[in-house]
Amino acid sequence: MTYSPYWNPRNETLPREELRALQLVKLQRLCEWAHAKSTFHRRRWDAAGFHPSQLRSLDDIRRIPFMTRAEWMDAQAEEPPFGPLLTVPPVNAIRYHTTSGTTGRTPLRVLDGTKDWEWIAEMWAYGLWGSGLRREDVVLFAFSYGTFIGFWGAHYACEKIGCLVLSTGSATTESRVKSMVDLGVTTVCSTPTYALRMAQAGAEMGIDLASTPVNKVILSGEPGGSIPAVKRQLEAAWGAKVCDSAGMTEIGSIMIFECERQPGGTHIIEDNFIEESLVYEGDAPVPYGERAERVVTSLGRGFIPLIRYRTNDLVVRLPHTACSCGRTGDLYHGGIQGRWDDMKLVRGTNVYPRAVESIVRECAAVDEFQILLTREGVIDEISVRVELKPGREDHWEALRSRLHVDLSDAHEGLRFKVELAPVNSLPRFELKAKRLVDQRPAADYGRHDA
Ligand SMILES: [Zn+2]
Repeated sequence: MTYSPYWNPRNETLPREELRALQLVKLQRLCEWAHAKSTFHRRRWDAAGFHPSQLRSLDDIRRIPFMTRAEWMDAQAEEPPFGPLLTVPPVNAIRYHTTSGTTGRTPLRVLDGTKDWEWIAEMWAYGLWGSGLRREDVVLFAFSYGTFIGFWGAHYACEKIGCLVLSTGSATTESRVKSMVDLGVTTVCSTPTYALRMAQAGAEMGIDLASTPVNKVILSGEPGGSIPAVKRQLEAAWGAKVCDSAGMTEIGSIMIFECERQPGGTHIIEDNFIEESLVYEGDAPVPYGERAERVVTSLGRGFIPLIRYRTNDLVVRLPHTACSCGRTGDLYHGGIQGRWDDMKLVRGTNVYPRAVESIVRECAAVDEFQILLTREGVIDEISVRVELKPGREDHWEALRSRLHVDLSDAHEGLRFKVELAPVNSLPRFELKAKRLVDQRPAADYGRHDA
C-alpha cells in the first residue's frame, strides 16, 4: 500500500503565509480562552497591560509577557496541588502526569482532559509517521510507564496509527531485548542512552541487533539523537534508521521531529506550535542559523495553556528549505542542542556537555563517560572519565591522546584531564542522563534541570 509521507498532508505543506494566518487565528482563540478561564494568566496579563484583543497580527505575540517555569512552580506551591493555572475544574481531567523528577525537586504537575489527550497523541503521530512508522509496524517502548509523561503520548499515537504496541514497563533490559526478538519488533522507542544500553545488552546476550527486523529507532528525552557520532553508532549497532524527536512535560507531547530524509535537524510542528528564537533570557529575535533560546506557545493544550514559555533550550533554527521532504515547517539544526544553563564556564572558556559528548562518542570503544568539574586551589579543572567496553582496553592509549587533542582544539585550547574509569564504575541512566558533575565549591553555577 502506498502512503502519503505526511501525517497531515495539508497542514504540513501549507505555504508559510497561510501557516502564519492559521497560527494567528489559533493564538487569538487560545489567549481569549486563557484570559477568560485561567486566573494565573489573567493576573499576569492584567499586570503587564496585555489583553487578547491586542493580537491583530502574529508579531503582536511580542506584547504577551513571558511565562517561566519558576512562576509555574510558585503558583503550584501557592495553591497545591495544581495552582491557579487550570482553565477547567480538575474533575474534567482524565490524565495526571509530572516532569521526570530526576533532580529531586518538586515536579511540575499537569492535568489533561480528553481533548488534550487526543491532541497529544496527534502531535506524536505527526512525528512517528514522519519518521516512517506505519500500521504494519510492531513497536516496543523501553519506558517505565510511571507518572513521568515521557513516551505516554507516543504509545497512544501508535495505537492511533494502528501499530501493535508492546509496553515493557518494569522489564529488565535483557527481557526487553528478548521480547523484541520473540515478537518481531520493527520499531523501538527509547532515549539515546538506553538505546546504546540495549545494544550493549544484545551483544552480551549474543544477539546481533542489526540482524533483527528492527528498522527504526525513535529517540526522545535527551539531545543525543541528533549528535552525529551517537546516531552513527546507534545506526550501526541496530542496523536501523535512527530518528530524533523532542517534547516537554509542559506541552505533554513533542513539538519537533526528524523526518525520514534525516536532514540533520528536526521539523517544528508549526501548525500546532509557535516557536520563537530569542536571545537567551532576552526578548530580541535571533536570525536563522544562530544560537537562540526557544520560547514556545502550544496551540493545542486547553487544560493548562502554555503561552510564550521560556524553555532554556539552546537551538539553531533553519528555514524549511534546509530539508527536501516538502514540509514547510522550519527546522532546528541538530535538534535541541542542550540547555543554556548546562553551559559551564571553565577558566574563561564555555563548555557545553553536548559538544564534549560529540567528541567522546566518536570512539566506538567508549561505553560510558562522565565530565567532572573540580577546583584545585583557585584553579578550575575539567576531567573526562571514560569507561571502555569490555575487551577494548587496548584502545586506551590511542584514545587518550586523541581526546586530549580533540577536546582542547574544540575549546580554545582548554586542557582536559582524560582518565580511564574502571568497568561499571560510572553511573548508568535509563532516562535523562546526567554526565556532568560539578563539584566546584561555589555559590551558583546554575541550576541542574530535569
Ligand atoms: Zn523533512
